[in-house]
Amino acid sequence: MSDIIIGIDLGTTNSEVAVVQDGVSRVIEVDGARLLPSVVGLADDGTLLVGQAARNQFALYPERTVRSIKRRMGEDTKVAMGPESYTPQEISALILKRLKQAAEVDLGQPVTRAVITVPAYFSDAQRQATRDAGGLAGLEVVRIINEPTAAALAYEVDHPQGKTILVYDLGGGTFDVSVVRVARDVTEVLASHGNNHLGGDDFDDRIIDHLVEHLRAQGHDPRAERSAMARLTRAAEAAKITLSDAPFALIQEEYLLERDGAPVHLSLELAREDYEAMIEPYLRETLEAVHIAVNGAGLTVSDLDEVLLVGGATRTPLVQQRLEAALRMQPRAEVDPDLCVATGAAIQAAVIAGVQVASVLVDVTPYTFGTSALSILNGEPYPYTYCPLIRKNTPIPVTKSDVFETMHDGQRSIIVQVYQGEDPDALNNTEIGSFRIDGLSDVPAGNLIITTFSLDVNGILHVSSREKRTGLEAQITIDNATARFTGDALTAARDRLSALIDGYEYEGATDADQDGATDADGTAAGDVAGERREAVAARALVEKAERLLGEANAQDRDDLVDGIEAVRDALAQDDPRTLESAVAQLADLIFYLES
Ligand code: AMP
Repeated sequence: MSDIIIGIDLGTTNSEVAVVQDGVSRVIEVDGARLLPSVVGLADDGTLLVGQAARNQFALYPERTVRSIKRRMGEDTKVAMGPESYTPQEISALILKRLKQAAEVDLGQPVTRAVITVPAYFSDAQRQATRDAGGLAGLEVVRIINEPTAAALAYEVDHPQGKTILVYDLGGGTFDVSVVRVARDVTEVLASHGNNHLGGDDFDDRIIDHLVEHLRAQGHDPRAERSAMARLTRAAEAAKITLSDAPFALIQEEYLLERDGAPVHLSLELAREDYEAMIEPYLRETLEAVHIAVNGAGLTVSDLDEVLLVGGATRTPLVQQRLEAALRMQPRAEVDPDLCVATGAAIQAAVIAGVQVASVLVDVTPYTFGTSALSILNGEPYPYTYCPLIRKNTPIPVTKSDVFETMHDGQRSIIVQVYQGEDPDALNNTEIGSFRIDGLSDVPAGNLIITTFSLDVNGILHVSSREKRTGLEAQITIDNATARFTGDALTAARDRLSALIDGYEYEGATDADQDGATDADGTAAGDVAGERREAVAARALVEKAERLLGEANAQDRDDLVDGIEAVRDALAQDDPRTLESAVAQLADLIFYLES
C-alpha cells in the first residue's frame, strides 16, 4: 500500500481534506459533506463535537463551543471550552484529527502525512503553531504551503515564461488578496494584503440586522432570544446564498418568537438589489486591498495575467462584477472556490510523494448565455444590451436568474430572446431561441419579470420567464446550447431586426455605468436609428478587440490593431459601407482568434 499524503485546507470557517488518487484529485467527505465547519465544542454530556454538530450548538452554547480558532494561531493563549481551556494548537489538532480520520476511513488505510495550507501573511510563529497542531493530531506535516500558491496549483497556472496572478480569497471570516508569480515549479508570493475580520459572515450580519429591524418595527425584539437569533443567523446565510443565483429570497421563520402567548412569524422578501447595497462598503474595502496588493508588488493592474477566486463568498455575483470592472478581466471561478485550496494542497502532496497528477477537470460552459434588454451601452440607452445570466466558464449544471421590468404601462406581453455569446451588444451574439409571454397583468411599466436560465451537463438550456406578481410563466428548452453556432446562424441572428418589439428592461441597471437605463418615454427598440446601432455595435467590437490584444501573439496583435484602426477610421468618416466592411473583417478576425 502506498504512503498517501493528504492535502488539508485548515480554514477559519471551514476545513477540507483532499487527496490525489490514480492521478485525480478528490475532496474527501466528512460527515457526508465536503466542508467541515472549523468549529469544536462539547455536548451536554461532555462528548467532543467537531464540525457541523459543534456549529449547530454555537449560538446556544457559546461557552462550550470554539470557532475561528485560526485567528488565534501563534498566540501564547488558551481558549475556554466548557470547564477546561485549550491552546489554539490543541483546538486545531481536533479539527485536523477529524479530517485525518475521515481520510483513513475513505482510503481504507492509515494516513500519517499531510500538506497543510496557511495564509500568505502567516508569521513563522503561526506556521509553527500549524505544524504543531498537525503533530498533536498524529500527522507529520511534510510541507506548509501558502493558500494562494495552492489555488494556483489547482488552476494549473503554469507558463514557461511565468505568469502573474491575483488570488482574491473571500471566505466566511477572512479576506486575503495575494499577487503571486508562478514560473514552472516555483511560486512566489509578491505581495499580500487583507483583513482577517472581513468575510461572508459580515454579509450575514447585515441581513440579520435587517431582519431584526423588521421585527422591531412590528414591536418584537429577538436580540435577547438566543434560539430566535440562531434561527435568524441560519436564515440570513441561506438567503445570502439564494441571492447569489436569484434576484429575490423569501425568508420565512414560523413561530420565531412568542409575545403574550401568541406566536410571532417572520416572512420577508429580500431583493438582491437591497442586499447588494448592504454589502457594498465591504466590497469597496476589498477592492482597495486589491490595489494595495498590486502596488505592493510593484505592478499595475495591466500586469496581471489571471485572477483566481477562492473562498465561498466569492460566489456573490457583485464580488465578481466589481472585480471584473476593476481589473478589466473575467476572474476564474471554475474550480469550486471552497475546495480550490484543499485541491491545490493535495496536488502539492502528490508532487512530494512522486505521484503523477492530471489536471483538475471541471465541466464548464464554453460560452456565455443571456438575454437582451433596454439598458445603457457605451453611455447610451440601447435596446439590445446583452444581459448575461450564465457566464462563460461557469461550472455546470447551473441555474441563474435575474429580474427585468416591462417598459410600457399596460404592457401585456414580452418577447424573451436567448443569446449565446460574449459581446455587450446582443445583436453581435447568436440568437439561439426566443419565446413570448402573453397575458401579463394590466399594470404600469415596471412589472417585474424573473427570467431563469438552467444549463445542464448535456448542453440543454432551459429558459423560463415568470411574471412575479402572478406566477404566469413561459419557457423554452434549447438542445445543444453549448455547440458553437455557425457563421450562417450568426448572420441570420444579426439580420433579425424585427426582434424585441416589446422588449423588456434590465432592472439590474443601477450601476454608475448603467445609470439612466429607465427610458422615461418608453422608447421601443424600433425607434433607435439603424445607423446609430451600427456605430454602437462597431464600438463594442473595438472594445472587445482591445481586450483580446493582451493575449494575442505578435502577428495577431498587428492584425487586431489594423482592424481596430480601420473600424475607427470608418466611424470617423461616418461612412456606413466602409464601416460595414471594416466591422465584418474585424468580427471575422475575432471569431478566428476565439475559436
Ligand atoms: P469559506 O470560508 O471559503 O468556506 O467560505 C465560507 C463563506 O462563503 C460563508 O460565509 C458562506 O456563507 C459563504 N458562501 C458559501 N456559498 C455561498 C454562495 N453561494 N453565495 C454567497 N456566499 C456563499
